[in-house]
Amino acid sequence: MRGEDLVIVDAHEDIASHCLERERSYFRRGDWMVSFEDHLDAPVSLVFATLFVPRQYKPYRSQEIAKLQLSFYRELEEESKGRVVLVRNLPELEALLTHNRKHPERGKRKVGMVILMEGADPIGHPGLADYWRGQGVSIVGLTWANPNAYAVGNDYPDGPGLTPAGRQLLILMKKAGLILDTSHLNQRSFFEALQVWDQSEGELPVIASHSNAAAIYEHPRNLSDAQLRMIAERGGVVGLVLYDAFIAEDRHTNLNDLYAHLEHMVEVMGVDHVGIGSDFDGGITAENSPDPFRTVADLPKLADYLADKRGWEEADIKKLMGENWLRVLRRAWGKS
Ligand SMILES: [Zn+2]
Repeated sequence: MRGEDLVIVDAHEDIASHCLERERSYFRRGDWMVSFEDHLDAPVSLVFATLFVPRQYKPYRSQEIAKLQLSFYRELEEESKGRVVLVRNLPELEALLTHNRKHPERGKRKVGMVILMEGADPIGHPGLADYWRGQGVSIVGLTWANPNAYAVGNDYPDGPGLTPAGRQLLILMKKAGLILDTSHLNQRSFFEALQVWDQSEGELPVIASHSNAAAIYEHPRNLSDAQLRMIAERGGVVGLVLYDAFIAEDRHTNLNDLYAHLEHMVEVMGVDHVGIGSDFDGGITAENSPDPFRTVADLPKLADYLADKRGWEEADIKKLMGENWLRVLRRAWGKS
């Protein structure tokens, strides 16, 4: 299953931080998992590309680093002469999908990038949620692993939850049209965030861009069945992370191990609520990603596996590989 028929969306790739920290180009294939060439090979149509501030810059340089990363994505768009496009709203999303439908060939198709801020540390004040939306950010996670001014991440699984500023930020995020990403939140922050989200004005989905199932492998980064259900009930999607450490204990994993998570998530949430959030190049390498994933170009192997080894129907494979994420974006942006 490839090409025209299958729209692949990957809901978590750390492109800017990886390229900037290593001074390498997105356009050059190399000893890493994500490049323009790999996206075209797959082909991947849409990526949720992160603004991710590495630990050493927090808290004081968070805003500066996020702005640099945002400029990086804008420069990609320019350098690529239209082959990489930032996707910030419904018209831009539909234009990208229409283009790739009309021009599926490798030399013409485009790669879309939706900007996801992984950890709201760069949002210096809740009142700036609207500013970042205006800058092209579409999705925000309150924290990465570390606690910040807004909430507590998975560094402290049993720690406290939201701060008053965190509650304020959630209300203003929803008002600004920013989708909430719950991956990395600790237990208490997760449940409190959903409560505030529910009570705030408007309709906007909640997602977990890159999280697996705690029922299959207990880990502070994985979600309990209750959490999975809550995301599904809110129209959201959970992205499967292709990282050994979140799939099984202390070993190199493969597609069968990953499938255990997928099967469970589909059982708990239904097939409309699971997608891919590889987390490639976010500390993930070919060595610690399940076999056979060496680069993002290998994502179609998951579709082949589901068709050949697990008897999945084509319609369900399409949902998992990308359509579910497209539904979330269309729902969030429907009114824009
Ligand atoms: Zn992450």
